[in-house]
Order: sequence, then structure tokens, then C-alpha cells
Amino acid sequence: MQEYKLFINGEWVDSETGEMFQDVNPATLETIAHLQKASAGDVQSAVDSAEEAFDSWSGTPAPLRAKILFRAARMLEERKEELSRLMTQEMGKILKEARGDVQEAIDMTYYAAGEGRRLLGETTPSELPNKFCLTVRRPIGVVGLITPWNFPLAIPAWKIMPALISGNTIVFKPASDTPLLSIELVKILTEAGLPKGVLNLVMGEGSTVGSEIVHNKSIRAISFTGSVETGKWILGEAGKDMKRVSLELGGKNPIIVMDDADMELAIDGVLWGAFGTTGQRCTAASRVIVHEKILPAFQKKLIDRTKKLKLGNGLDENTDMGPVINNSQLQKVSKYVEIGKEEGAKLALGGKPAQPLPGYFFLPTIFTDVSSDMRIAREEIFGPVLSIISTGSLDEAIDIANSVVYGLSSSIYTENIKNAFKAIEKLDSGITYINAPTIGAEIHLPFGGVKATGNGTREAGTTSIDEFTEIKTVYFDYSGRLQKAQIDVE
Ligand code: NAP
Repeated sequence: MQEYKLFINGEWVDSETGEMFQDVNPATLETIAHLQKASAGDVQSAVDSAEEAFDSWSGTPAPLRAKILFRAARMLEERKEELSRLMTQEMGKILKEARGDVQEAIDMTYYAAGEGRRLLGETTPSELPNKFCLTVRRPIGVVGLITPWNFPLAIPAWKIMPALISGNTIVFKPASDTPLLSIELVKILTEAGLPKGVLNLVMGEGSTVGSEIVHNKSIRAISFTGSVETGKWILGEAGKDMKRVSLELGGKNPIIVMDDADMELAIDGVLWGAFGTTGQRCTAASRVIVHEKILPAFQKKLIDRTKKLKLGNGLDENTDMGPVINNSQLQKVSKYVEIGKEEGAKLALGGKPAQPLPGYFFLPTIFTDVSSDMRIAREEIFGPVLSIISTGSLDEAIDIANSVVYGLSSSIYTENIKNAFKAIEKLDSGITYINAPTIGAEIHLPFGGVKATGNGTREAGTTSIDEFTEIKTVYFDYSGRLQKAQIDVE
């Protein structure tokens, strides 16, 4: 069994305490790795090394920083299949999706590398003569990155690459359920030439290792993706030190299917949106709001198609849906099925663990007759459970869609352009898809949500650079005399 260490100041090291934790394949329940668990002292060492490396890294011209990222992107590409297979074993998502996750990391690495020759500021005229106005971007300093398990390579890359190209140094903690892909990413960046101390990897529980990162006074910004509960806590704690905090949190994403929709297209989209990645995407469609005129036909077709999904180990290319990540997630999904039944929703399909598969498998589950006030229609389940809600009109569908605390992704299937534009205008979410499901972000566009899904920041695209830079405004007066804005001119 392979053992993995922490990466601090350019070296793979044991933790101070020598404590270990295990990494388990959720499809087979086999332990696939033992890992060193960081202590508070290890986190401090990681921060010290990141601080030490900051001057040199931030002083390296961004196009030279980019060369390292371009090399890393090529290495990720060369190792795509191997990394994808490792991801399926560690996280459970099917191979096709694991390849997508790795591709997303490749795309983000190339994209961020390209930003090395941009990192754009603004120039704008002054209101005074012989004066020049511009903005420049500066790195923030040492940043703390904390990631979840559902995109084991893509989400770390979404944070690490823009943070690096912007000149920051990093203390990074991946989810305890999926540290292996993060370890591989650190190895690749190191082999690509990243200097020591620029990227430090600490592993272990969020409540200890993550909390140390959040509270460390030398860390100037936290970028966190995970649950609303943890995100709220981080915002409060990091706020006490005036740290910059970027939060990408949960969702309860709706797909609206209008009576004028292309039904087959909508069924394809709902199946993929609800059961892709076993429903464990922040953008997963967990509610489908269907016009009452087409509801009976839609439900029947959707249930028939869902019955055909093949569960199993994601390494088998014929598998459609893998396991959930761990036992506590399996218990959570089971609990919500009971809640749904007690609330009076009709369990139309699934609703229990899939026996006799050895891992954490749960049958794709569909509830019909769901009303928008039920907990299964309001709370994030993060598993393969879909609630079907009936609607009489687009206005009502939008009200239902907006009635939850979350606001990440939303979607509408309609052939009517007026419906589409109304949905774009009225749906309270950071992302809206027309005639496509709620999942499937592209890395060069901003990603994030409104309401409890985040605190207004956006990852990916050019906004990823905003996340990891400070803007300095520069006034350059070459008039040779004292000029006063707002006073010399009115
Ligand atoms: P989580 O329990 O909040 O954990 C996320 C990360 O935070 C993990 O690395 C975890 O460490 C760490 N952590 C836990 N408690 C912490 C604390 N007190 N201080 C600092 N770090 C702490 O979430 P999860 O269950 O892994 O992920 C699922 C959630 O992420 C869902 O709600 C999903 O919607 C959301 N998500 C959102 C997006 C988005 O972009 N909006 C994308 C993906 C996922 P351990 O692993 O050691 O517990």
C-alpha cells in the first residue's frame, strides 16, 4: 500500500505527529492509499515556506510564470488517461466523467498560462491635463485554498492555476476523501519547474487542518469550495482578520420544462443533469419543474429511461452511474428519501441502496407529486435523487425555482424565445442554461452563484484573475505643478 506525504517547502515530508488517514475506493471499499495527516505545526511550516517564496515568485515576470503552467498543462495532457483512472478509483465517478474532470484541469491550466501575457489593467483619461491614470494588478500574498471531493482535479486547478499566474504563493488543502489527484497535480507542477515553497500541500481533516488555514494571520485570502455550512463558518472566522474570502457553495438547481419543449431533448438533459456524477455536482439538477400539460408523458418517459441506467464500478466503460462518495453521504441520501416519503411525495423509482454491489451505491431515485415547500425540494441532498414538481405557467415555475436559499445554476427547456428571455431575466442564479441541463460549465466563463451559494465572487474566466489579484490605481502627474482633482476642474 502506497503512503503519501505532505509537500512543504519543496519537499515531501512526514507530518509532525506521524498520524495517518486512509483513502478508500467508494466502489469497492478497498483502501487505496495511506496519507500523512498534517498538524497545526505543519500548516504553520507550510505558511512560513509560502511567505518565504512570495517575494521571488511575485517578482518573476508573469510570462515566465506562465511557461511553467504551459509545461504542466502538457504533462497533464500526456497523463490524462492515467489520472482519469486514478480519479475513478478514488472518487467513484465513471471514467468518461473523470476524463472530463481532467480535461477541465488541462483547459484551466492552459487558460491561466495564457493570462500570463495579459493580467490586464485599465488606462483611462484624467480629468486634469498632463496626468496619466491606470490600474495594475498585484498578487494578494499567501492564499489558502480548500477544495471538495466531487471534482478532485478540476476544482484544485480552478484555484491553483489563477492563483499562481497572478503571483501568489499557496497553502492548499484538498478534501480528505480525494487527496491523490491533488498530490499528482503538485508533482506535475513541481516537475514543470515550480520553485520550492510556492505551492504547499497539507492534508487532513477540515475541522483541524482547514481551520488552521482559515485562522492563520499570514494567509491573506481564502478560496473555498464546499458546503454552505462550512462556507458560512469560514466567512465569519476569516472576516475577523479582514481576509478576502471567495466562496463557491451548494445548490438546489432547477430545470424548467415548458409545454413547448422538445421532450426528448429535455429527457436527455434531465437524466444527465440529475444522475451525472451520481447527482454529486454542485450544479446537479435536483428539481425538475414540468408544465402540467406534458407532465404525465414526461414522467413516464423519464422513469423508463432512468430504469435503464447501469450502476457499477466506473472503470467499466458500460457503467452509467457510479457510487456516492462515502458512507455518510449514503446515509444522508437514505435519510432524505425517508423525509420525502413522510412529507407525502410519491417514491416513483429507486429509494434505496443498490444491493448487492459492494460499494456505496444508491439507486437513481425519482419522487413525483412533490410540492415546492417539501424539504426534498428545498435542501441540497447531493446524491441521485430527483424531485418532479408540477407547474401551470412559466411565472409559477420561476417562483418555484427561486423559492430556495440557493442560486447556482438553472435551466429551461422551451422552443419559445420569449420564455427563454424571461427565464434569463427572472431566474435567481449565477448560471442559466437554455435547452441544456444545469451542469456543464466551460472554464473561460465566470462560474458561481447568488444567495446562499456564495458571496458574490466568480471563479474561472477572467474573473479567476480578479479572485487572486489586488487592483492598484495609479495617478501619474507630469504637469510639474500641484493639480487638484474636483477643485481645479468642475
Ligand atoms: P465540505 O464538507 O464543506 O468540505 C469541503 C472542504 O472543506 C473539504 O476539504 C473539507 O475537509 C474542508 N472543511 C470542512 N470543514 C472545514 C472547516 N471547519 N474549516 C476549513 N475547511 C473545512 O463540503 P463537501 O461535502 O466536501 O463538498 C460538497 C459540497 O460542496 C456541496 O454542498 C456542493 O454543492 C459543494 N460544491 C460547490 C461547488 C461550487 O462551485 N459552487 C463545487 C463543488 C462542490 P475534509 O474533506 O477533510 O472534511
